[in-house]
Amino acid sequence: MAKTARGQAAKPAKMVYYFGKTKTEGKGLGKPLLGGKGVNLAEMTSIGLPVPPGFTITTEVCDQYYKAGKKLPAGLMDEVHQTIAILEKELGKKFGDDENPLLFSVRSGAAVSMPGMMNTILNLGLNDAATEGLANATKNPRFAYDAYRRLINMFGDVVMEMDHHQFETAFDKIKQKYKVTEDTDVPAEGLKDLCDAYKAVFKKHTGQEFPQDPYRQLELAIEAVFGSWNTNRAVRYRQIENIRGLLGTAVNVQSMVYGNMGDDSGTGVAFTRNPNTGENKFFGEFLINAQGEDVVAGIRTPLPVAEMPKWNKEIHKELLEVKETLETHYKEMQDIEFTIERGKLFMLQTRTGKRTGVAAVKIAVDMVKEGLIDEKTAVLRVPANDLTQLLLPSFKTTARNAADVLARGLPASPGAAVGKLAFTAEEVKERAAAGEKVILVRRETSPEDVEGMHAAAGILTSTGGMTSHAAVVARGWGKCCVAGAGEISINEKAKKITVGGKSFGVKDTISLDGTTGEVMVGEVETQEPTLAGDFRKLMEWADQYRRLRVRTNADTPADSKRARDFGAEGIGLCRTEHMFFESDRIMHIRSMILANNEDDRRKALKKLLPFQRKDFEGIFKAMQGLPVTIRLLDPPLHEFLPHDAKAQKEMAEELGIKPAEVKARAEQLHEQNPMLGHRGCRLSVTYPEILEMQVRAIVEAAINCAKKGTAAEPEIMIPLVGTAAELELLRKQVEATIEQTKKDKKHEGDLPILIGTMIEIPRAALTADQIAEHADFFSFGTNDLTQLTFGYSRDDVGTFLPDYLAQDILHVDPFQSLDATGVGQLVEMGVSKGRTEKQKLKCGICGEHGGDPASIHFCDGAGLDYVSCSPFRVPIARLAAAQVALGKKVSDM
Ligand code: PEP
Ligand code: MG
Repeated sequence: MAKTARGQAAKPAKMVYYFGKTKTEGKGLGKPLLGGKGVNLAEMTSIGLPVPPGFTITTEVCDQYYKAGKKLPAGLMDEVHQTIAILEKELGKKFGDDENPLLFSVRSGAAVSMPGMMNTILNLGLNDAATEGLANATKNPRFAYDAYRRLINMFGDVVMEMDHHQFETAFDKIKQKYKVTEDTDVPAEGLKDLCDAYKAVFKKHTGQEFPQDPYRQLELAIEAVFGSWNTNRAVRYRQIENIRGLLGTAVNVQSMVYGNMGDDSGTGVAFTRNPNTGENKFFGEFLINAQGEDVVAGIRTPLPVAEMPKWNKEIHKELLEVKETLETHYKEMQDIEFTIERGKLFMLQTRTGKRTGVAAVKIAVDMVKEGLIDEKTAVLRVPANDLTQLLLPSFKTTARNAADVLARGLPASPGAAVGKLAFTAEEVKERAAAGEKVILVRRETSPEDVEGMHAAAGILTSTGGMTSHAAVVARGWGKCCVAGAGEISINEKAKKITVGGKSFGVKDTISLDGTTGEVMVGEVETQEPTLAGDFRKLMEWADQYRRLRVRTNADTPADSKRARDFGAEGIGLCRTEHMFFESDRIMHIRSMILANNEDDRRKALKKLLPFQRKDFEGIFKAMQGLPVTIRLLDPPLHEFLPHDAKAQKEMAEELGIKPAEVKARAEQLHEQNPMLGHRGCRLSVTYPEILEMQVRAIVEAAINCAKKGTAAEPEIMIPLVGTAAELELLRKQVEATIEQTKKDKKHEGDLPILIGTMIEIPRAALTADQIAEHADFFSFGTNDLTQLTFGYSRDDVGTFLPDYLAQDILHVDPFQSLDATGVGQLVEMGVSKGRTEKQKLKCGICGEHGGDPASIHFCDGAGLDYVSCSPFRVPIARLAAAQVALGKKVSDM
């Protein structure tokens, strides 16, 4: 757009673009200027589909309107007048004519579709005289007055922002007067009465007469469409959908066709394929003798399109031809709106159809088979995150739509869970063991809760963030979790939750949608996932293109196997501490912690060793021939101790010591912010015997596997390193333990074990060259790196993150999608400094970001060798990695 001397934006050169038989001006212009609807109307016109002619006012005009303090730019209405003159000539009707008036629909249409967010006005141009004329011209007064009353109603709602109920009350009175219950049974005189009643309502509430000048109506309607761009709900929708950088909405003014002209007319919406299953079958609904909003508003129940041949065979056939034409042109599944006026079909809209993950995969693979698109396009077309829906149980759409939403939290771990409320891990275990399905509700979980979490059908927390303990653990298992649902207040003692003035207790059932973060009342019906052949096919295509390798974060043989089935190429992070929580081991780690000297600690560790060795053997077997990165113990020790008096007493009894001793040690170890305390490699510095036990278990497991012919490829990873000296020291200890174990086991042959570190402290990234001297590989722990770079604690970020997102201080949760601008610099620096020291240094990422498509985009650019994510996200990562390699932009991921 040109700039004037004073620096203000000048009016756009051309503001209005025509589409019709006479000419189609907008062809080839993009959605940013004409909006999605405008571009597609022009395109449909140019490929010969029956589109009622009209024109599009550009998004630049909307931008200009706001810049000028909500004023239409000078010259706009002149250009509109000139364009309407072309239309009048093409159609042989006049706008504002008293005899056979040309009428318009006025619709919004931004570059990105925002369904239902902005306004539509139909039948614009009618006034008292024109309605009379229309009644005569069509010989259908009922139709004419029906059209007029709809205009007054929509104009009141949309332009004057009147309350819809004011019109409804007036309609009810007319229905009473004519003793009918259905809108459609009101006779012509009744509708005429209704128009008078509506005009009176309009005047009463706006203080003005309903405007009789059609051009005035049009001008106000254009302004109302621009105004709808910035309503709260539209702004909120763009925030939620992360839609940014648009100029505004375009306005589409289109000559009206009427679906309400009698029983040979109708209107409908359809998808060219089934948007739920992807089946290549025309899918839609229509209503006989109705206008567009009747279908959407659900006033009358529409008929499935499959039943259309009973009503009009020809139109049904024509629609199927339109489907072919559209799909051949767009090479995509379309979502269309159509109207039939006295037996003639018109197309009002087409756009790319929204679909489920299952449908996305099927449509992409089918379209390759049909020769419409190639494999690369198919790989690019399926949104990687949508694969989640193919991997987890989900709620049936109809059941979900009918459900009562109690609160919304963060969609921490996808899936669907239904169960009764339980307030402690202990309670979950007991009730689950008795066969009950329960949801664990906590402010935030801690490692102590894992057994309960595992036994729960789903997890709900009120303060945690996307990488809080609950979220990370739940995702790892593919267990549904909604975190940080702050509206819910939890009273553990009274065993109830309160939200919006309502309370729920242990006998109440709730349903959690971990994909949307919704918490719903009662039992919502679920469906099991099916892993179709198309899905595998798409994954095979994706694997041909990606550069990044994909590993998994897994701690058990079962998870490892599942991840391998999903295509994982190794384990990028095995968190050894998760193995400690099972009931047969927790006592040993606890007595290790309670020990007062090294000897006692070693005794306790010795008891743990066989468990660890067995776990590792199982994992090596499951991942045979693939690398397995095992991280040495990371969390602060107090996490393994019980914190409440009852559990402390039980523990003391089991260990044969006094409860006071347990309490004292728990207090001594307690830290204000444990995630910055005595954890990670710091534990190994203080207690080298823990490192020794773990390394010994790994080496013994590898040797045992080798004896059985299982190729194990362990990689030992040292967490939370901040200085080269830490790694230098611990590496020596790891090497010494490896040698000692080999000797003890009399192992002669080769046993290659890489020793590397996590880069998760900013200082490690800043000094990565020094650290690389002692590392065979780097794995970026971006959970901790994000926490430490932002200074937000992972465990309580849920308390303020929603405000940050709502106020746009952050666009996305940085624990969910890697902050490329800040944290990303540290990753890039870590890789480049590390590789200055060791050119071929293997680098990966094992923070939660490893399964996030936008973060994977970043990782590819930063030159990482692999990403590692929870088993259920492996297919997502494979697809995202292929999409980056094929050039998909990060904003489209
Ligand atoms: C990390 O910090 O990114 C990481 C993978 O380790 P954890 O989440 O176990 O701290
Ligand atoms: Mg970490």
